Amino acid sequence: MSVTIKSAREIELMREAGRLLEIVHNELKDAIRPGISTLELDRIGEKVIRGFGCTPNFLNYNGFPKSFCISVNDEVVHGIPSKQRILKEGDIVSIDAGLIYKGMHSDAARTYGVGQITPEAQQLIDVTRECFFRGIQYAKPGHRLHEISAAINDYADSFGYGVVRDLVGHGIGKALHEDPQIPNFRQKSRGIRLIAGMTLAIEPMINAGGADVVWLDDDWTVVTEDGSLSAHYENTVLITDGEPEILTLSC
Ligand code: MG
Repeated sequence: MSVTIKSAREIELMREAGRLLEIVHNELKDAIRPGISTLELDRIGEKVIRGFGCTPNFLNYNGFPKSFCISVNDEVVHGIPSKQRILKEGDIVSIDAGLIYKGMHSDAARTYGVGQITPEAQQLIDVTRECFFRGIQYAKPGHRLHEISAAINDYADSFGYGVVRDLVGHGIGKALHEDPQIPNFRQKSRGIRLIAGMTLAIEPMINAGGADVVWLDDDWTVVTEDGSLSAHYENTVLITDGEPEILTLSC
């Protein structure tokens, strides 16, 4: 395993990649409403990314056919945007987005309610987001990678939620997926030492029911095995000498 330490120049570019991605996310958030298709959201977001002169990094990644992963209700991640998939009142929708700015990647995900959603669905969304913030309390020198995993796991556990084990976070930089893998569940080992200049995409994927997931026949869409709702929250994070800097949460 080789974990890259970014140069000052690379960090500057990743800051900009993150700032632009947050704008993309905000545009998509504003576009979510009952009646819109996930393909329309994909087109809106791609236009914003292209307008910045950037490239959507999910498009054609291992053959992924669209620019964003848009996953509805029991879909955990990697939902393929489709004209047929129309959002309706009460759905929850996870949008995973990333772009490349001057060769450097950013990656972030959010889950939103569509119109009015149940308190149970809102709690799942809120807890998944909080899992991320619990995790990054340990995203600093002097700590080990798997302390992040444990903090995410423990917070989700305290609500009886299932922590997805088949998919994990990752390092990010010149490539979308770099070492190290970042599990969202407790590990026996402590993991690598965290060092300033590492950039990590930390991304809890939390199910209202059990932790198990299955892949649909499209070979992409991951759903909960028990049909329960799932939420996703992700940011690209820079390890510094002090507090972590969240590169995709700048505005
Ligand atoms: Mg990611």
